[in-house]
Amino acid sequence: MDERFEKLEPIRVSALDEILGEPFKVLDDGFIRVIDYMGNDSSIVQAARVSYGKGTKKMREDRGLIRYLLRHHHTTPFEMCEIKLHLRIPMDAWRQWIRHRTANVNEYSTRYSIAIDAAMKTLPGEWRMQAKVNRQGSEGFLEEELGREMTEDELKLHAFARDIYNKRIESGVAREQARKDLPLSTYTEAYWKIDLHNLLHFLRLRMEKNAQLEIRKYAEIIGREIVKRWVPVVWEAFEEYSIGSTQFSSKEIELLKFIYSGEKEKVNELAASLGWLKEKEGNLSANIERMEFEQKLDELGISYPW
Ligand SMILES: Cc1cc2nc3c(=O)[nH]c(=O)nc-3n(C[C@H](O)[C@H](O)[C@H](O)COP(=O)(O)OP(=O)(O)OC[C@H]3O[C@@H](n4cnc5c(N)ncnc54)[C@H](O)[C@@H]3O)c2cc1C
Repeated sequence: MDERFEKLEPIRVSALDEILGEPFKVLDDGFIRVIDYMGNDSSIVQAARVSYGKGTKKMREDRGLIRYLLRHHHTTPFEMCEIKLHLRIPMDAWRQWIRHRTANVNEYSTRYSIAIDAAMKTLPGEWRMQAKVNRQGSEGFLEEELGREMTEDELKLHAFARDIYNKRIESGVAREQARKDLPLSTYTEAYWKIDLHNLLHFLRLRMEKNAQLEIRKYAEIIGREIVKRWVPVVWEAFEEYSIGSTQFSSKEIELLKFIYSGEKEKVNELAASLGWLKEKEGNLSANIERMEFEQKLDELGISYPW
């Protein structure tokens, strides 16, 4: 063999091999499991150095390189790792999931097969209330009594929709048409293959507190149970630089400087010029940007200057 090319061994990650094929339960009847994977932390280093075999220098140096790449958005080495997952998920959450276009997907076909006879159920204490400021979000829960009614209605609706579906199928209606009135809570299944760069992008968006709770539960498991085992050095850096970090805009940095130097007038002047301090009935009216800045100040233990 040409001595420039040393023999390579297949890459395996024992911590991930241990859970290969094992389903992690999500929601009431969903799951996610690893089917296959390619690469590990060292594959990223290897690609970055484009030096087969020599990529695995001292782990400390490899760790430093991975952290540098992630911090500076040098993304292509992360595309060298891929993972294939099998998931079972309600269709409404799947509808959000499938917006991530950089994966390869095969979904269970309800044209070929009978739709999965399971729909996500909601317990009486799990009905979330509409959030007042974030129009896409939820906050707090319905009182249990009302929740019980919602849950009873949900069970009736699921049963009714399923009966009608079954009746259509038994009468010979095509599966592709019979399915049209099944609720969005019906479970579907898919194989989903994605590279690590795009997976981290997915996790950044879907582990975030503004993402819908249901998809967040899947993302949490992918991140904390799967990616953490697969590429622990990447995961550590990702937790630090991405999901555990906060960004400040240039105006927010200006405000922070004024806050630190105790220039309250300048803080208020700048905040007012940004339209953050408008009042309604004697109180500050809701302003998403101001409220997001307030959340960041909370994280830093700084009280609001207004
Ligand atoms: C909290 C939240 C709320 C959301 N609300 C809504 C909503 O109300 N309505 C709605 O429609 N969607 C909504 N989305 C979906 C969102 O707009 C994105 O479609 C979704 O998050 C996928 O992100 P992406 O395009 O970056 O990911 P991917 O599709 O995985 O793409 C990754 C990256 O690749 C690049 N890319 C991929 N394909 C293309 C392309 N064809 N052209 C150019 N660049 C490309 C982009 O840089 C992209 O960021 C929401 C998402 C989140 C997280």
